[in-house]
Amino acid sequence: MASIFTKIISGEIPCYKVAETEDYLAFLDINPNAKGHTLCIPKKEIDKLFDLDESSYHGLMEFSRKVAVAIEKAVPCKRVGMTVIGLEVPHAHVHLIPLNTMEDAQFINKTTLDKDEFQSIAATIASQL
Ligand code: 5GP
Repeated sequence: MASIFTKIISGEIPCYKVAETEDYLAFLDINPNAKGHTLCIPKKEIDKLFDLDESSYHGLMEFSRKVAVAIEKAVPCKRVGMTVIGLEVPHAHVHLIPLNTMEDAQFINKTTLDKDEFQSIAATIASQL
């Protein structure tokens, strides 16, 4: 069965898109640790990040770096953190999280955003790419 992220890639499930290339997609996490929390994924559906072939892995890292630089310009924060977990969605992804405190990295305190805020922050990050 297709992963929820594959359904996002195909458009079956909507997302707040930040960036897209032929092989990669970045979109806002629906349950963010902090405003601007973004997921970067390969379009190829592989469960574990370190099972990606070398070229896809490096491609995802290069794509994630560009998105992280744009997040740092768009979202007031001390820095952008990168985390890989994958316990919830079995489709390789990188979390890029604007950090101001250690709690922002901890996946415990979540931030609630309405549709307009999601749309606005996705557009602001995209404008910095
Ligand atoms: P992980 O697999 O790394 O533990 O967590 C998966 C992440 O994907 C979570 O932070 C969760 O909020 C996010 N997520 C799960 N389902 C969706 C979805 O349908 N849309 C979006 N944008 N994010 C999702």
